[in-house]
Amino acid sequence: MSIDHDTPHATEVRDADFYEDFRAELRQFMEASCPPELRAKVRTNHKMGRAEYAVWQRIMAAKGWGAPGWPVEYGGTGWDLQQRYIFEEVSAELDCPPLYHHGLGHIGPVIMHFGSPEQKARFLPRIIDGSQWWCQGYSEPGAGSDLASLKTSAVRQGDHYLVNGQKIWTSHAQEADIMYTLVRTSVEERKQQGITLLAIPLETPGIEIRPIRTIDHWHHVNEVFLRDVRVSVDNCIGEEGTGWKYGKFLLDRERLSPASVPRLIRQLQQVEALLLERLRDQGPSPSLHAALERLFLAKASAEGAREMLMSAITEEREGTLQSSKSSALKLHSSELSQAISTLAFDLSAPELAPRLLPDDEYLPVGDAEDCQRQLVHTYLFYRSRSIAGGTSEVQKNVIARELFGA
Ligand SMILES: Cc1cc2nc3c(=O)[nH]c(=O)nc-3n(C[C@H](O)[C@H](O)[C@H](O)COP(=O)(O)OP(=O)(O)OC[C@H]3O[C@@H](n4cnc5c(N)ncnc54)[C@H](O)[C@@H]3O)c2cc1C
Repeated sequence: MSIDHDTPHATEVRDADFYEDFRAELRQFMEASCPPELRAKVRTNHKMGRAEYAVWQRIMAAKGWGAPGWPVEYGGTGWDLQQRYIFEEVSAELDCPPLYHHGLGHIGPVIMHFGSPEQKARFLPRIIDGSQWWCQGYSEPGAGSDLASLKTSAVRQGDHYLVNGQKIWTSHAQEADIMYTLVRTSVEERKQQGITLLAIPLETPGIEIRPIRTIDHWHHVNEVFLRDVRVSVDNCIGEEGTGWKYGKFLLDRERLSPASVPRLIRQLQQVEALLLERLRDQGPSPSLHAALERLFLAKASAEGAREMLMSAITEEREGTLQSSKSSALKLHSSELSQAISTLAFDLSAPELAPRLLPDDEYLPVGDAEDCQRQLVHTYLFYRSRSIAGGTSEVQKNVIARELFGA
């Protein structure tokens, strides 16, 4: 996420009424302006792509809320931390889509901190109005957890680089315009050196995007092949050879998404409603009692996640955040999301499990059976939560290294 360090309001003391009025203003606008069909899709856990995200991004940008976490000078709202969190809470409560993270939460802050004035002017406004869609080209077949082993090469030839290599697991590449990409510009003694961050437009000749279907049969990740792709040196973000620093800056923020916790709390509410329905229909039983215990544990865990997030973003703002806290939050949220979706699966799945494939007959969005089916899809999709953005084992390594110097 990006923190509005530069907001003029950052140190201003505001009373509870101010935040309640703010919450009411958000609620009123979002309720009136988010299309009902979009809210129905979010409420029923449907997967979304650019088409859906872009509708909401345009509406928010027109209102001036297109970049809630960005400073005013870059077109953001300049909201303080509490406003930022209230925004995510209201958005989740009302089942509005999250704002698409690759531009706003990931590469946008990197460009703000390390990009040239020309790059800021070229890229940032198009992230806010949603006209340019980014994806992340980090992982390679031989470089996932060990990202610094990446081999995709970029050789400087006058005013451009010639890029060759392969990326994998690239989320939403099939609908993105541009990929922020870690490439190797030189081989140095330490593998973290010689890495460069390039913005590669995806319509450039020499790029091939092949779909990968995940366990839930959704197509959102891809392989991206790059063969003699010419990329202007103007698209090198920051200094050549120091991309590892920007990549890490970005990953720490990726693991600290302010939207994640309110969305989990919203899903918990849905599972609670499902469980209460089962209790009403079937009466108490040992298995429903056990489910109730799991629900209470998940609720306590969600409170823990909220506290962790608030303290992490406060530290981020003060410049004292350590990677271990982002990693701890990522680890905790991944486990929690899997606990919630597993509980939903256990409560709804058995009779629906054979009907999960995309060629199922159409069910109207919001139909009770459709809702249950989407819960099962979410269960399957959330298996990836402990992998994407760095696996749980890797998060534990980061935490151990920082705490114990291991
Ligand atoms: C749904 C999804 C979306 C993704 N989106 C993107 C994207 O948009 N862009 C992008 O660049 N990448 C993306 N990824 C890739 C993701 O970041 C990698 O899958 C992840 O970093 C793990 O790398 P790997 O798959 O190569 O597994 P590996 O690194 O090969 O790991 C295999 C296993 O070994 C374990 N392991 C590895 N090293 C260690 C260690 N040192 N100590 C202990 N255990 C270890 C891992 O925890 C894992 O269990 C996505 C992945 C998924 C599943």
